[in-house]
Amino acid sequence: MIYADHAATTALDPAAFAAMNPFLFEQFANASQPYFFASAARQALEQARAEIAACIGAAPSQIVFTSGGTESDNWAVKCAGEGRHIVASALEHHAVLNACRVMERRGCTTTLLQPNTAGHIEPEKLRAVLLSGARFVSIMLANNELGTVQPIAELCSLAHEYGALFHTDAVQAVGHIPVDVETLGIDLLSASAHKFGGPKGVGFLYIREGVAIEPLFDGGAQESGRRAGTENVAAIVGMAAALKQRCDALDVSMRQVQALEERLLAGLCAAGIVFRRNGSAPFLPGLLSLSFPGADGEAILHRMDLMDICISTGAACDSRDTQISHVLQAIELEECYARGTVRISLDRSNTVEDVEAIVAGLVSILK
Ligand code: PLP
Repeated sequence: MIYADHAATTALDPAAFAAMNPFLFEQFANASQPYFFASAARQALEQARAEIAACIGAAPSQIVFTSGGTESDNWAVKCAGEGRHIVASALEHHAVLNACRVMERRGCTTTLLQPNTAGHIEPEKLRAVLLSGARFVSIMLANNELGTVQPIAELCSLAHEYGALFHTDAVQAVGHIPVDVETLGIDLLSASAHKFGGPKGVGFLYIREGVAIEPLFDGGAQESGRRAGTENVAAIVGMAAALKQRCDALDVSMRQVQALEERLLAGLCAAGIVFRRNGSAPFLPGLLSLSFPGADGEAILHRMDLMDICISTGAACDSRDTQISHVLQAIELEECYARGTVRISLDRSNTVEDVEAIVAGLVSILK
């Protein structure tokens, strides 16, 4: 089996599994208990917090553990406050878009910023909405369907000029490209462990000091009163180990994955396949949205599946929805291209042989 859908999820890193193991068995204590037996779990939580913070240039006190990207996005958007004007990009994941809809029911107004056809959000469009009173901005760092990386530092400094808070969904970016909260300047950042070799069902929200944030859940005083619920120590420790692995080898793996990506594109060109790569640079390494005009993306996916090759047509949560995704609609991709679109997402576990098999599979289907 060849797995080329790493933007949907990744395999658990063996280093993460090794780090998690003791906290599933011997050190299973509830980290909030005062007795000595809980001290190893408590220390492990704080060490994981410090390791994760170091990977994104944050302070440990700014990291709050969550159940993943969806919770982090929901929590961030809901911190806009009732009755505010929220601006998000039309490219956002449903975890942001649907949270915006809930906020509309709470008296907020939402403006969705349309990207240009290259998949970028233009600062001038953001300025216009800020001038009309928007005070909360949510724009993703890297898009999960296109791989396009947004100019977040520029967009964020514009939002701050108008006194607006800035959230970025960095679920696809953390562990894949360098992410530094100080360079970006953002106030809130979402991440999810299963996108970078950590376990599923765990993530974090970075919250800059001074950002007033209401808890999403009501309950105990865990996470300094910010996020109630017994901490999933093993998963959190696994997330930290996975992220550290990725960040320690980031340069090497980015180059390796970029080389695979170039090989894939060159292979399709050499075979005379007509296609377009959607979005525009800078791209996340290895994430390719390819449109084959006149083809059927769904059919390509299923025929690749018969060859034991896993790719996707778009976001994992949309895979049973045969509509053209909201992302492809937002970049105004012509229908004959949009219907023939697949997403291939490679990572450092893929090999040259994998890429050759993917190219051969696509060529045999498309020809
Ligand atoms: N945001 C983006 C950009 C994503 O790609 C995803 C998952 O596909 C999420 C949020 C949701 O993350 P999770 O699966 O951890 O809830």
